[in-house]
Amino acid sequence: QPHPHLPVPAIGVDVGGTLTKLVYFEPNDEEEYGGELEAKVLKNIRRYLTKNSAYGNTGHRDIHLQMNNVEIHNKKGTLHFIRFPTAEMSSFLQLAKSKGMAMLLTTVCATGGGAFKFEEEFRREVNIRLKKFDELDALIKGILYADIHNRSECYYYENASDISISQKARFDFSQPYPFILVNIGSGVSILAVRGANDYKRISGTSLGGGTFLGLCSLLTGCTTFEEAIQLATKGDHTKVDKLVRDIYGGDYERFGLPGSLVASSFGQMNSRERRASVSKEDLANATLVTITNNIGLIARMCAVNEKIDKVVFVGNFLRVNPISMKLLAYAMDYWSNHTLKALFLEHEGYFGAIGTLLLA
Ligand code: ADP
Repeated sequence: QPHPHLPVPAIGVDVGGTLTKLVYFEPNDEEEYGGELEAKVLKNIRRYLTKNSAYGNTGHRDIHLQMNNVEIHNKKGTLHFIRFPTAEMSSFLQLAKSKGMAMLLTTVCATGGGAFKFEEEFRREVNIRLKKFDELDALIKGILYADIHNRSECYYYENASDISISQKARFDFSQPYPFILVNIGSGVSILAVRGANDYKRISGTSLGGGTFLGLCSLLTGCTTFEEAIQLATKGDHTKVDKLVRDIYGGDYERFGLPGSLVASSFGQMNSRERRASVSKEDLANATLVTITNNIGLIARMCAVNEKIDKVVFVGNFLRVNPISMKLLAYAMDYWSNHTLKALFLEHEGYFGAIGTLLLA
């Protein structure tokens, strides 16, 4: 029989289509725990969760994102950030079982589609009940919380109009509303947020981070997201795409389209000779640029429609991915005549998981 001795809410999970994001809140003051056994197990779990950076073969703790001395429900403590592929859920549950986690935890706060999909497995395998929250409610709560508790949470790109020199700079997001929120996970959701409890989902696209990784794997044989990004960093999409200058020989002056603009993504790849001369790196770069620019275009149209000038991009597609962030910053700036601003947040993919702890 499990005991509810781990201070609740202590663990929040966002079980997404690709990655499971887990946030663990470790209170500063040691609490009083029922029996000796419980105290021992709890200590073990804490040690396990907070001392390791790897969990099994595929889990990782993002140490650089850890938030110290923050307050949740009037308790001070540390927030730890852990992620693993959702496809590894069964091994994660076995690991949790072997660490005795199920003995101490009765409830975990959960969001994302997997909170529904894996609810029964959590109950069956580790006797844990999921307390479910809507993922967009959780996402917004998490974003507002993180920005209040971490003054360097929000940033933009300085000199966005020149990608070769654009650079991260801190943005003061203390007056956030209104803003467009673009969550780039496996797929993409776009929200208009006008107040803490005033938001709507206005659009989305299925061409998201999952599409990038899927297409890139098909085209280059890469096996991880990190590898896909590394390939993309060394490649040149102009060998793959058809540019305005490939069609016009220069700029399309009448409508102000520069020759360097992509006219047709992958538009050179119908030619056998061109196909023979592109590298894996070029294909990876072209895939990244195609997906990113498409998201940027949709986001910009949403911002214009809603008459909102701040566009916040989150989601794990942006993890270790400055190419896409700089491209989005450039696209927002250039195509809006400097009226729109692209913003980014350090805890990129973790806001849903944070939010569940706050909603609990
Ligand atoms: P979801 O909730 O749909 O899983 P995320 O916000 O976690 O969405 O983002 C998933 C996307 O993040 C993937 O489609 C991929 O583009 C990117 N990504 C970043 N890091 C990884 C990783 N280690 N493994 C797989 N995908 C990753």
